[in-house]
Amino acid sequence: MQFEWSYFFSLFSVADFWESCITVIELSALGWFIGMLLGFLLASAKLSTARWISVPASIYIWFFRSVPLLVLVVFTYNLPQMFPVTRDVLSNPFYSGLLALVVTEAAYMAEIHRGGLISVAKGQKEAGRALGVGLIGMQRLIVIPQAFRISLPTLVNEYITVVKLTSLVSVISLTELLTVGQRLYAQNFLVMETLSAVAVYYVMIVTVFGWLFHWLEQHLELSNRKPQTLDDAALVDLRTRLGSQPAQAPQPSARAGLAPALQLVNIQKRYGQHEVLKGIDLKVEAGQVISIIGPSGSGKTTLIRTVNSLETIDQGEIILFGEGYIHSGDNPNAPQIRRGVQRIGMVFQNFNLFPHRTILDNVTLAPRYHGRDRVVSEQRAYALLDKVGLLAHAHKYPHQLSGGQQQRVAIARALAMDPQIMLFDEPTSALDPELVGDVLKVIADLAKEGMTMLIVSHEMDFALSISDRVIFMENGIVQNDAAPHAILADQCGERVRKFMGLDSHSPSPHNVSKSRLAGEVG
Ligand code: ADP
Ligand code: MG
Repeated sequence: MQFEWSYFFSLFSVADFWESCITVIELSALGWFIGMLLGFLLASAKLSTARWISVPASIYIWFFRSVPLLVLVVFTYNLPQMFPVTRDVLSNPFYSGLLALVVTEAAYMAEIHRGGLISVAKGQKEAGRALGVGLIGMQRLIVIPQAFRISLPTLVNEYITVVKLTSLVSVISLTELLTVGQRLYAQNFLVMETLSAVAVYYVMIVTVFGWLFHWLEQHLELSNRKPQTLDDAALVDLRTRLGSQPAQAPQPSARAGLAPALQLVNIQKRYGQHEVLKGIDLKVEAGQVISIIGPSGSGKTTLIRTVNSLETIDQGEIILFGEGYIHSGDNPNAPQIRRGVQRIGMVFQNFNLFPHRTILDNVTLAPRYHGRDRVVSEQRAYALLDKVGLLAHAHKYPHQLSGGQQQRVAIARALAMDPQIMLFDEPTSALDPELVGDVLKVIADLAKEGMTMLIVSHEMDFALSISDRVIFMENGIVQNDAAPHAILADQCGERVRKFMGLDSHSPSPHNVSKSRLAGEVG
C-alpha cells in the first residue's frame, strides 16, 4: 500500500480542520484554566485542618481521578435524560465535553497545586504572620505566588495532556480534529494519510502552546532576573529625593515610667508530654535590651515565639504596655493579638525573606498590606535600607544577597512596621563568621536608639556588651536574670559563667567557641 502524499498535504488546506483546531484550542484552554482554578480550591480544601472541608475534597479527588474521561464524557452528554433542566447546555457537545474535562482536570490539578502549596516553606507563613498579615493576605501575597511558580512546569505539562484528551470528545460528535478526520476517511478510506494529518495538527497546537508556556516560565523564573546594584550616582539621586534623616527607631523615652513594655506572667507551654516552658515570669521595661542565653533545647526559641503569638501558651498571660494581649486559650487570630503582633517586630534565624519579591518589596509588603500609601512606604523602606547599609541593593532579589545582607533586610522589614519591641531569634547563627559583625552592628545601633529588644543569642561578648540584662534559661525555666556587670563580677554562680565561657578568675569572656564546640550552645 502506498502513502498518498499529495492527499496528505492537501489536508492542510481543509477549512474544517482549521476550524476544528480552534475548537480544540478553546476546549482545552477553557478546560485547563477552569480546572486549574477549581483544582486550587480543592487543593486548599484538602489541606484544610477542618475535616468537614478536607474529607469531601479528598473524596472528590480520589473519585474523579479514578473515572476514565471517556466514561465521564458520555455520561455528561446523556445527563439531560435524567435531568431535563440541563438539556439546554449539555445537549451541546462542546459544553458537555468541557464539563467532563473540567471535572476530571480539577481533580488532577488539585494534586499538582497541593504539591506546590506544601513546598512553600513554613517560615514564609511565619514571617507573614509576624508582620500581621491575615489569612487571605498571606495566601494572596506570600503563598500563592510562590506555590504557583513551583507548580507551573507541571501545570503546563497538564495543558498538553488536556489538548490530547480533547480527542476523546469526538465520541459525542463534537467537530474537533479527530471527528473531522474520521468523517473524511469514512468516505475515502485513506486512513493513514488522514490520521497522520490529524496528528500533525495536534503537534502544531502543542508546539505553539509549548513555546508560549516556555516564555511564561522564563519570564517568571526569578533566577533569570538580575537587577544590578545601584551605582553611586543613582544612590546620590535617591538620597536627595528622600531628603530625610536616616530612619530612627521610635523613641521609647516618652514611655519611660509608664507600664512595662512587656510582662510575661507564669508562661507554660508543652508539646504533648514535653513541658518546654515551666512558668516563665519576665518583666521588660521600655528601652531595655534583654539577651536570652541557654543550652540548646532550653526553650529560648519557644519563649520568644510565644511573645508574638507564633506559639500558643497553655497557661499564663502576656501583657503589652500594660494592656492584656495574650491569655492561655486565646484564638491566635483574636483582634487584640493581631493588633499586638503589629507592635512587635521579629527577626528569624533563617531570615525568611520573601524570595519572589525584591528587597524593596520585602520591606514595603507589610506597611502596604496594612494600608499605608505606596510612596510613603517606599520612602520609609529606602530610608531603612540605607540605615542597614543596603540601599544600593534595593532592587535586587533575596537570592542575590549574602546571608548577612539578607538578615539586615529582614531587620529593615521588621522595622518598617514601626514596632515598639523587636524580637531576635539567634539572628547570626546561620551566618558565616565574617558576616556576623555587620548584623550585630545594626542590632547594636538599634539598642543605642533605645529600641526595646529581646535577643536570643549565643554571641556572648555581644550579649554582655549591649544588654541591660542577660537571662539564662535552662530546662524551661529562667535560671538567672542579671545585669552583665553582675555576671562579670561573679555574682551569678558558676553555671552561668561556665556556660558563657567566662573563666572564674578573669573578668572578660573568653573563648566562646569553646562552648560552641562542646555543643552546649543552642
Ligand atoms: P532552644 O531555642 O532553646 O534551643 P526550643 O525552644 O527550640 O529550644 O525547643 C525547646 C524544646 O521544645 C526542645 O526540646 C524541642 O525539641 C521542643 N520543641 C520545639 N518546638 C517543638 C514542636 N513544634 N513540637 C514538639 N517539640 C518542640
Ligand atoms: Mg532556638
